[in-house]
Amino acid sequence: TNAKPEKTKYGPLKDEDRIFTNLYGRHDWKLKGAMSRGDWYKTKEVVLKGPEWIIKEVTTSGLRGRGGAGFPSGLKWSFMNKPSDGRPKYLVINADEGEPGTCKDREIMRHDPHKLLEGCLIAGHAMGARAAYIYIRGEFYNEASNLQLAINEAYQAGLIGKNACGTGYDFDIYVHRGAGAYICGEETALIESLEGKQGKPRLKPPFPADVGLFGCPTTVTNVETIAVAPAICKRGGSWFASFGRDRNRGTKLFNISGHVNNPCTVEDEMSIPLKELIELHAGGVIGGWDNLLAIIPGGSSVPLIPKSVCDDVLLDFDALVDVQSALGTAAIIVMNKSADVVDCVSRLIDFYKHESCGQCTPCREGVGWMQKIMHRFVTGNAKPDEIDMLYELSKQIEGHTICALGDGAAWPVQGLIRHFRPELEARMKAYEEKHQTAARA
Ligand code: SF4
Repeated sequence: TNAKPEKTKYGPLKDEDRIFTNLYGRHDWKLKGAMSRGDWYKTKEVVLKGPEWIIKEVTTSGLRGRGGAGFPSGLKWSFMNKPSDGRPKYLVINADEGEPGTCKDREIMRHDPHKLLEGCLIAGHAMGARAAYIYIRGEFYNEASNLQLAINEAYQAGLIGKNACGTGYDFDIYVHRGAGAYICGEETALIESLEGKQGKPRLKPPFPADVGLFGCPTTVTNVETIAVAPAICKRGGSWFASFGRDRNRGTKLFNISGHVNNPCTVEDEMSIPLKELIELHAGGVIGGWDNLLAIIPGGSSVPLIPKSVCDDVLLDFDALVDVQSALGTAAIIVMNKSADVVDCVSRLIDFYKHESCGQCTPCREGVGWMQKIMHRFVTGNAKPDEIDMLYELSKQIEGHTICALGDGAAWPVQGLIRHFRPELEARMKAYEEKHQTAARA
């Protein structure tokens, strides 16, 4: 009965509530600039409060993983707090950001690398980790250089390494550059790649918290999730939990791309209405809101939603599941009426076909079949009953593969069929009429 009533209005975020204050880059991402913004301030006190305290604050904050799956972070970190039979424990940062439309972690590493490093130390201590490996996408050359320079600075200042921050805790951080495979963003493929093998996902169980990097207990966590940990510990878990709705707490980075006047990366409150976010930060849809066709709200792996849904939907995990989509990486790809939505989805399927590691049949073969059918849908050279066949094919892929890449390929197709079936049928009809006319001539 004493529970606080839920807010009814979410966002916009006030400046003083932003975590990533250097998001737009004032070219002072190095240690001096970072410290002027509060990074590495009272880190020693946070670390000395101990793993249980850190995990309690993160649990109170309601933080859920920012890489796409949205798993509760406090719970995930607590999985590491058990005996490891003398094996070292590792924290692995997933900076292999390859999801189309997504570049939020790149912005953190570009403009705020010390937030990530400080987060590694705090989260690593909470898990009892000996070291953190930051696995960064190979194409992010400049960001990897920034990160390495920031790590060097942190070592020189005694913030990491032996007796990190004077806490008596030894903690190393390494950067490892990937080589361009999207699948290495899947946590077990990433671990395989870090071990020097081909980046192919492992079957789970065992889960990385039991058998991860080099056979040791490991937590693989997204860049943004770790980079917000210092703010949560310093300002309090309940401060972070004061943003967003129940089960969808905190501030969040959003990428907005596609047919908007000002594509950007912004931090705002979780659960902010989609329309408000776009109009406030991205200058609105090109041609106005009424010119909107559809939006992919969470990176290319989630189903698109048409304008009628976009009008009122909130941007959080639960609201987007309610409309048969997902928050994913919170990369918002906007398509106005000038877009060919069938061609857009077909291009995405080309991407997944190219990036499939080929280990399991539903993904290797099924995505190839989806690609062929989608190519024919683009021209209209298909029969209307193939729409149901394609849908059924996507259902046979979904949930039947080793990793989520299969789902990521199936869901955009399902979203297209769910919301744009009349457009597909009209395209086929036009194709048929054109060829009948040509045959008669
Ligand atoms: Fe590889 Fe695709 Fe199977 Fe994932 S779903 S393991 S990418 S074949």
